[in-house]
Amino acid sequence: MKKDFRSNLQFLFPKLALSLNHLNKNDEKQIKDELCDKMSSATIFIAIAMAIISIAVSLLLQIESGWKQIEVYGISSFVCDLVCLTLAITSIILKAVSYFNKDKNENKKNILNRLSIDALFVAILSMMAGSFYADSEKGFLSVTPTMSISITIISFLLIVQPIHALDAWILNSLVSVIMLFLSIYAKIQFDIQGFPYYIIITAVFVLMSRLVNSILFYAGIQKYIQESISNSLMDTAMYDELTHCKNRYALKKSLEKNIPLWKNNNSDLLIAMFDIDNFKEYNDYFSHQGGDGCLKQIANVVKLTFPSPNLEFYRYGGEEFLLIFELDDIATASETLETLRKAVADLNLKAPPKAPKDYVTISIGGLFFEVNDEFDFNKSLSEVDANLYKAKSSGKDICFLNDKLIDNQ
Ligand code: GH3
Ligand code: MG
Ligand code: MG
Repeated sequence: MKKDFRSNLQFLFPKLALSLNHLNKNDEKQIKDELCDKMSSATIFIAIAMAIISIAVSLLLQIESGWKQIEVYGISSFVCDLVCLTLAITSIILKAVSYFNKDKNENKKNILNRLSIDALFVAILSMMAGSFYADSEKGFLSVTPTMSISITIISFLLIVQPIHALDAWILNSLVSVIMLFLSIYAKIQFDIQGFPYYIIITAVFVLMSRLVNSILFYAGIQKYIQESISNSLMDTAMYDELTHCKNRYALKKSLEKNIPLWKNNNSDLLIAMFDIDNFKEYNDYFSHQGGDGCLKQIANVVKLTFPSPNLEFYRYGGEEFLLIFELDDIATASETLETLRKAVADLNLKAPPKAPKDYVTISIGGLFFEVNDEFDFNKSLSEVDANLYKAKSSGKDICFLNDKLIDNQ
């Protein structure tokens, strides 16, 4: 009952949502990075709007003051406008750099996203300060269009900002204290009208931004959890549980993607299938559990022997494994098969007493060819199978490539 009540409240409190969903600091960082990426893309439009507003307002004030803006509205207001414009443009540049660095360096991209949000945040603060100075120079405090737009935008940024910076409450309170201080100062100094507006607006946007910030964060957490579930489902669907090799489904998916590329590039491929020799006897002697251990060790040694990203390695059936390489020539293909056979033999896994050799061996069938437009994977696979059959019937612990026995001396 108590837990239900807490989970109903989690969308209001990000820290509670994190702990109820058993997420750690690393998960939190990833959620924040993802949100910052989205948010900095959204803030880019605001930065552009800010730059335009900043220029437009300065121009309007210039015209209104008969091109004597600095005299009428004061140097401070002018400096604030300049700072605002510079930071808005900086924010746009930072996001652009982060965008074009996309896949190269994740860490750099995240830092740039955050800086882009920060630059815009300070740009808006300076626009507000500029507006305040301009008003106080004139002797009255009004909710000018600039001020209203700034408040709307800063409310949005107060939602974004705490995602990566301080806690939402601390940041919101800080800005509210500054605004209150400025309005009280204005009231005492100039006995200005419009004072209550500032207090009401401050209170409303602090509460609203806190609420929206929490809801956004909660949505980020939910998305992160769903992605984690779908990734682990994908892993279960694609990988064999015992050997952690890719399975037949993964092979089907990979072929759908790769066959058009291979055809397009006329790639030279080596497709190889290996099968453990006399594995039934191994199971009979060492038990199925012992057999499982043997399968795992063989799969591991293959992964270690061919760590290249070029390699496609699948558990095709019970004790049959399939490998696909892109290679340059048949000599390399033949060396590759021998390397594979030797790697398993060198594991020196003890074979059952009646086996022809005292260590576990494999037989390999391979096909090396250039992919053309008529390429049909199943047809090639039957040729690979025929080579494997030849290796089995010609004595085992050997490799057959393109109908020829590879000399293993
Ligand atoms: P050959 O040298 O001709 O390949 O003989 P073999 O005994 O290896 O061939 P066979 O196909 O008759 O036997 C394959 C055995 O592999 C039978 C099956 O019990 C075993 N096997 C298949 N999958 C697994 C598995 O996941 N774990 C274990 N322990 N054994 C498996
Ligand atoms: Mg076998
Ligand atoms: Mg078999």
